[in-house]
Amino acid sequence: MFGVYAPGFDVPHLVFDGLFALQHRGQESAGMAVSDGDTVTVVKDMGLVTSVFDARTLASLQGHVALGHVRYSTTGPSTWQNAQPVYRSVGNAGFALGHNGNLTNVEALAESAGMLPGIVTSDSELVGELVSRAFPTVDHVGDGADPDLEQALLEVLPDLEGAFAFGLLDATHLVGVRDPNGFRPLCLGRLDPVPGAPEGGWVIASETPALDIVGAHLVREIEPGEMVVIDAGGPRSFRPFPAERVDPKLCIFEFVYFARPDSRLLGHEVHAARHRMGEQLALEAPVDADLVIGVPDSGVPAAEGFAARSGLPFGQGLVKNRYIGRTFIAPTHQARVDGVRRKLNPLRESVSGRRLVVVDDSIVRGTTTRQMVRMLREAGAREVHLRISSPPFRWPCFYGIATPDRRELIAANMTVGEITAHLGADSVAYLSLEGLVAAIGAGGEGFCSACLTGEYPTRVPGSAALAAAHR
Ligand code: SF4
Repeated sequence: MFGVYAPGFDVPHLVFDGLFALQHRGQESAGMAVSDGDTVTVVKDMGLVTSVFDARTLASLQGHVALGHVRYSTTGPSTWQNAQPVYRSVGNAGFALGHNGNLTNVEALAESAGMLPGIVTSDSELVGELVSRAFPTVDHVGDGADPDLEQALLEVLPDLEGAFAFGLLDATHLVGVRDPNGFRPLCLGRLDPVPGAPEGGWVIASETPALDIVGAHLVREIEPGEMVVIDAGGPRSFRPFPAERVDPKLCIFEFVYFARPDSRLLGHEVHAARHRMGEQLALEAPVDADLVIGVPDSGVPAAEGFAARSGLPFGQGLVKNRYIGRTFIAPTHQARVDGVRRKLNPLRESVSGRRLVVVDDSIVRGTTTRQMVRMLREAGAREVHLRISSPPFRWPCFYGIATPDRRELIAANMTVGEITAHLGADSVAYLSLEGLVAAIGAGGEGFCSACLTGEYPTRVPGSAALAAAHR
C-alpha cells in the first residue's frame, strides 16, 4: 500500500513507483485512487502494477493526493471486484480504501450491521461499507475542513478486530491506520520541497523501500493503534482504540520472509536480521557438508549467515527465474505447483557430488521444498541437509497470510523425522523461536508468532467457521 499527499508533485507517477517497489506484497491485482481536490478517480485491474498502469493511464490521472494498492487475497476471491482500492460514494463525495491484513470478526460485524451474507465479497469491502454507513450519523465539527471520513473512521475502527493496515483517501485527505497490534507494517515518509512544490509532501507506505524509490525519507513508523490524517495542514495523529487493546505484535514473518531485504522494520534492516538468523541456525544445527546454498530470494541472506558462522563455503546452487512471482502467496495449489517448476533450476556443476546445506526461510506446505530437493538430487547432489531460518509453521495465520487449514501445514501433521523422509532430505532442522527473536535484534518489541506457537494475540473465529471461510 502506498499513498501520497503532495501538491505540486506528479502524484500518480509517485504512486506507480511506490507500488512497483511493493509488488512482492501482492501480485494479483493493482489499483490507484487519485483526487484533484474535488473528484476521486479509481483505476484498478487484475495483474501486476506494470500491466495495470501504462503511460497513457497515468497521464490521464490528475491530482495531488493518491492511494495505491497491490492485492494478495486472504479473504474474498482473486477477482476484479475485489481489487483495491475499494471505492464508496457518499452523497456527492466519495472515498477509497486499501487494506493490508485480514479482519477476524467479519461475520459479527456484518451481522451487527444487518448485512445479508454475500452483500460484501471481502473484509475490505465490508470495512468500506461500514465506513460509508457511518458518514450520515457523525457530527460535523465545522472547522472548515470536511471531517466526514475522519469522524466515520473514529466511529468504525474500534469495532474492527484482527490485522489491518489501512490507507484511505477522500477528496482532500490521506489517512493511514494501523490496528492496535500493528500486525502489518506502515510507515510515514516526507518528500522534501522541490521547485513548484514549496510545501513538499507526505507519503504512507507498507515498507520503507517504497519511500526510498520516490525520494522520500522515513519520518517514523505509524504506531500500532494509530490513525494519521494528512491534509493541507500536515499530519495529525489520532488514537481510535482503547489503550488496553494496544499491544504491539508485528508479524515475525515480515522479518523472515515477507518484507523486502532492504526494508527497515522497528529500526532494523531486514537483510541483516536474516543474515543473523542464518548465523544462529549454524550454531543451533551444525552439519558436516561441502557447500551452503540458499533458496532464492529470501533464503539467501540466511545461507550467507550460516556459511559465515560455520566456516563452510557459500555458493549459488539454485537459479531463480526473476520474472516469476512468489509461490508462497500464489492463490491456488495448482498455481503454486506450477510456480515452483518454473521458478527454480539447479546449477549442476555447483551441486553435483556435493554434500549441500540448503537454507530456506520456511516450510509451509512442503510443496516447494519437496520438488526442490528432488531437483537437487537429480542434479547430482550427494546429500541435502535442509536448514530452515524459522521455527516449524504449525498453526494457521488469521492475520493476512493465506495458510488457513492445519491439514495443509506439514509441520502440524508430521514430526521432523517424518518431514525429512517426506521431503527426501538427509536432515531437516529449524531455527528456535528464541534464536529467531534474538537474531532480529529487537528484543524489547512484541511479535506475533502465532503460526509457530498457536498463541494468537487476538480472538480468532471458531475453527469450523474459519475453515469454511478460508477454503
Ligand atoms: S500468525 Fe504468523 S504469519 Fe500470521 S501474523 Fe502472526 S506471525 Fe505473521
